[in-house]
Amino acid sequence: MNNVSTPLTMKVPRFKGGGFIEFEEISVPKPGPGQLLIQVKANALCGSERGQFINGAVVIPGHEAAGVVVAAGKHTRVPIGTPGVIYLMDFCGTCRACSQGFTNQCRNKRGDMGFNKDGGYAPYELINENIFFPIDKNIPFPEATMLLDIIGTGGHAIDRGRILHPDIQSVFVMGAGPIGLGVLAMAKIIIGKEIPVFVSDFEDYRLEIVEKLGGIPLNLKKKSLHEFFMENDVKAVDLSIDTSGKKAARQSGLKVLDQQGALICVGHGEELHIDVSIDLIHPERAILGSEYFPYRDLERNLDILNRHFEYFSAIITHRFEAEKIKEAFDLFLKGQTGKVVIVQ
Ligand SMILES: [Zn+2]
Ligand SMILES: [Zn+2]
Repeated sequence: MNNVSTPLTMKVPRFKGGGFIEFEEISVPKPGPGQLLIQVKANALCGSERGQFINGAVVIPGHEAAGVVVAAGKHTRVPIGTPGVIYLMDFCGTCRACSQGFTNQCRNKRGDMGFNKDGGYAPYELINENIFFPIDKNIPFPEATMLLDIIGTGGHAIDRGRILHPDIQSVFVMGAGPIGLGVLAMAKIIIGKEIPVFVSDFEDYRLEIVEKLGGIPLNLKKKSLHEFFMENDVKAVDLSIDTSGKKAARQSGLKVLDQQGALICVGHGEELHIDVSIDLIHPERAILGSEYFPYRDLERNLDILNRHFEYFSAIITHRFEAEKIKEAFDLFLKGQTGKVVIVQ
């Protein structure tokens, strides 16, 4: 227990509902056996926190955190001072899914950081050691958070599509929010730079980032999807990925799929209507869900972040101090941002 000196108390943001956030002074937790105390240096905002901002939260939110180990309980191995990121799902490591490496499908999860366990908007976060992933000392913490929902979730959605389709030549992403940008970036890196990746949205700001990242922006306020595809001489795509959670988006993603194409649903939300014979059987298409990503992907993804650092850094458009968390959320939820990160 060779601990760095940490303060006894810390100021944490409490999400009260209605967009109100109040700061409260509480004790800094102490790590028990198998646990680490992380000093949080950066935590990225996520669209999935909208509910907590609007309706309030019992725990401290924040599930895209990067920081440094400052205290360690008994039976831990990670040295004090190690920088790293925190995986959202506190997986058991021994169930049927975990033993196959599918920690994002753990059957015996101990919790989700920032949703039912205190998360990364606090100055210090207490975690079980298995969800900490060490990173290189030279990676700045805001960019390190890109390993989670952006590179991790985005990459897993692409991996899901590749299970079904070994020859992807075109991709259509519905929604240019942070997850959509992550999917676009990982499509370019995993499948190939030359593959056209179309990204639809209604926000000019986000579509400008799409263009910067090498995607083809489709502003559905200006033209229909059909018109855009005609213009680009595209008849159908091999992979559609919905990050919007909207029924209309999913339907159009399914409709533009080529034979043997796959629709991957990443964004939670509305339903999808399927005409089984026409949509699935006859063209042998597939529809898959994709939830977060397996912990083991972090190793490959760290290498990707190191090789494409500037590319991922461009997805972060705003950085806020911890005291300005309310302003950060107000701006982020208006849709005029890329990824927004709280730094401490
Ligand atoms: Zn998230
Ligand atoms: Zn498990």
